[in-house]
Amino acid sequence: MSQEKSATDYLKGWRSWRITRYYFFIALTAFFLILPWITVNGNHFFLLSFDKLKLHLMFVQFDMQEMYLMPFLLMLMFIGIFGMTVLGGRVFCGWICPQTIFRVIYRDLIETKLLGIRKRIKNKQIEPDYSESSNQIKRVVAILLWTALSFIATANLLWFFVPPEDFFAYLANPTEHLMLVGILVITALFLVADIVMIKEDWCEYVCPYSRIQSVLYDEDTVMTIYDPHRGGAIYNENSQKQVDSLSELHKLDQSAECTMCESCVTICPTHIDIRQGLQLACINCLECSDACTQVMGKLGKPSLIRWSSEKEVLFQNGKTDFFRPKIKGYIATLLAIVVILGLMGSEKELMLLNINKENRLYSIDIDRDTQKVRVKNDYIFLLQNTQDVDHKYYFDVIAPKEYEGKIMVLKPSEPFKVKPNIKKKKIVTLYTPELLVQEERKDTVIPITIRAYAIDAKDTIVVERKSTFVFPRYDKYKEGVKQ
Ligand code: SF4
Ligand code: SF4
Repeated sequence: MSQEKSATDYLKGWRSWRITRYYFFIALTAFFLILPWITVNGNHFFLLSFDKLKLHLMFVQFDMQEMYLMPFLLMLMFIGIFGMTVLGGRVFCGWICPQTIFRVIYRDLIETKLLGIRKRIKNKQIEPDYSESSNQIKRVVAILLWTALSFIATANLLWFFVPPEDFFAYLANPTEHLMLVGILVITALFLVADIVMIKEDWCEYVCPYSRIQSVLYDEDTVMTIYDPHRGGAIYNENSQKQVDSLSELHKLDQSAECTMCESCVTICPTHIDIRQGLQLACINCLECSDACTQVMGKLGKPSLIRWSSEKEVLFQNGKTDFFRPKIKGYIATLLAIVVILGLMGSEKELMLLNINKENRLYSIDIDRDTQKVRVKNDYIFLLQNTQDVDHKYYFDVIAPKEYEGKIMVLKPSEPFKVKPNIKKKKIVTLYTPELLVQEERKDTVIPITIRAYAIDAKDTIVVERKSTFVFPRYDKYKEGVKQ
């Protein structure tokens, strides 16, 4: 009676990892479904638009020429996942990976709960019996349901590359957007084949992430672990099963607590026995831990399978060190990348300008109005208005102190308008009416800075670019004057 009481107490208020994961999956799915629809000033949280050559990041729009942010985003993603793996093993696989979420939707929700093709979530080893005609019909219904969801999932993924406001307009006109339609259909059909036929084999044999994870683990990495010290060694050192029944186990180890009920094996979606030790196929879903908690809980004991570290469970060498140097290194690196991204993002240029000098170094002529000799340099300016409204632009020339105010803009003679997101090519001529240098041996290259700005926002929409102004050597200057 006293054991029953403690067992009741033990399981009172307990919530399975499976149900916790379901809530997490719902929250994650809702987040990713809603995110592409949220815009601030027409900008998305994340959008990599190849047709418009734009990157939206945290509701700020960047031009493709500002793609230097992309490597930092990829570093953030990869280092984040690696750090997560060092800390929590395959936590990404069990809690975040779309493959796992989709399999739960297809196997547990559609096949088991909705259609009853599978009998119990707790037994994933019994495959549906398709010799029954009713099951064959249900299978078709299951595949059709999943096909519809695959199209929604693929569309959701594509919305991070083609925003919803364009996506549906493009789909309304499919013949003009065959590439988009093709990617949508092929990816959705691949998802159907993957979730219905490849199943968890994807995690074990195809996914490259599962291959590299084991090299990231250390003894403090938290993962799904069976405790052989309490439960007994079901497998020997060569990973061969050495006991098949409770009596065999007790012959080997009288104090072994495992009941040999096999609940942890029958529930496993990847068809493995966690008592064999850490395995590549384990996706850290913790369903075996739930199963064992229910079995051992009824006996008033904690689960033999825990989400813990080898240090704590296998080596019994103290508590898991969560904030070990390796983890601090990952956190510091991630913070540094976030700061760099923030700084680079905040330095986003509100207009873009490329300057190329024309092949001809300079030309010399006489100003008809003033009759002064002019040395002219020509440039090609490629200017882009990255704002959402029209702006008029013009330039200033910033020359070294000795030439200050002596190099000026000749063409264009007045500010010009550029529409939003439009690139404008301008031939720009700078000139000087002064004899800047009297150098006999060679042309003089004067470093200058071009300051381009929007007339109505001179202090904010402004960029500066380095360039040069070439002044001819003195004999050529005189020759030009004579002509
Ligand atoms: S052994 Fe199986 S049930 Fe247990 S966490 Fe790994 S994949 Fe899930
Ligand atoms: S569920 Fe627990 S008690 Fe049952 S076989 Fe697995 S480890 Fe042993």
